[in-house]
Amino acid sequence: MNDSNVFFKLFTNCIFVEGEDKGVILDYQRQAIYEVDKNLSEILPFIEEYPLDELRTHSAELYKVIMDLETKELGFLTSTPELFPAISDEWDVPNYVNNAIIEYGLNSTYSLSGLLAQIRNLNCTNLVLIINGLTDDQSLKIFSQIKQLEFYNVDVWFYSEPPWRSLKKMIGQLNVINSIKIFNSKTRQKVYKNTSLKYFEYKSPRELCEKELCPIVLNYTFYCESLRFNNCLNRKIAINSFGEIKNCLYLEESFGNLSDNFIVDVIEKEDFKKMWYLTKDSVDTCKLCEYRYACLDCRAFTENPTNKYSKPLNCKKNDSI
Ligand code: SF4
Repeated sequence: MNDSNVFFKLFTNCIFVEGEDKGVILDYQRQAIYEVDKNLSEILPFIEEYPLDELRTHSAELYKVIMDLETKELGFLTSTPELFPAISDEWDVPNYVNNAIIEYGLNSTYSLSGLLAQIRNLNCTNLVLIINGLTDDQSLKIFSQIKQLEFYNVDVWFYSEPPWRSLKKMIGQLNVINSIKIFNSKTRQKVYKNTSLKYFEYKSPRELCEKELCPIVLNYTFYCESLRFNNCLNRKIAINSFGEIKNCLYLEESFGNLSDNFIVDVIEKEDFKKMWYLTKDSVDTCKLCEYRYACLDCRAFTENPTNKYSKPLNCKKNDSI
């Protein structure tokens, strides 16, 4: 290739994000994060605009940056840069509610089957069901309804010792179970078929959310969603064991009870949707962090619960990302 006709380009699956002190390149193909100089935001437009030989002649420093990025396989040289446009970062899904988290237990008085039907009518296909103290027979009834309603992705969490007979039967029959989480269980059994089963010493799912570090998610769809929405609460609905309808089980605010509200009416309320639009770009500290589009936000456990923009309590940044 003739260098006067050669340009550098970052791979389209490599996204640069600038932070206060440094930058990162999020590589969505190799699922890796590379720390880079924060000034790359200023340099990048130049090194992508001018041909390689011009950059080599006028700036040894810029040429070195290009060679470094190319060696790390984060970008490439091409004489036809126009053939490599950026990938769209639009985000949308056809369903108005994309995730439902339902807590149901011995103290629940609402109709779980009615709730599941309402949620499925909204085209919601992703379900987290948190079960507290039900018998095998009660659980089997629930699982067979989940099967009938054709949810695509189901995660089932148990507060304590699960009803093992129904659990094993359910895994045998339902191929939509992604994962099972069991809290505070004395016995540890195996389930079959590559189902992910995790045991936790935590007393409850709440304790898990309160104590675990905010996870880093390297997924381009997640990145696109994070640019415009809250990456935890967007298009989500949560119903606690008392039938209270919320954005998250562990946020205080309730938007009504199932006993006198239909889900479809609650999600129409502007007030209910306001958290969907709270991006990391408006959260204290996170807005200056280079991981902000890859870090799962948490609004329930924050450094200052009275401030809705407060930084999540369990920031992973000082750990090992
Ligand atoms: S929680 Fe920590 S790692 Fe995540 S975006 Fe905020 S400051 Fe960055």
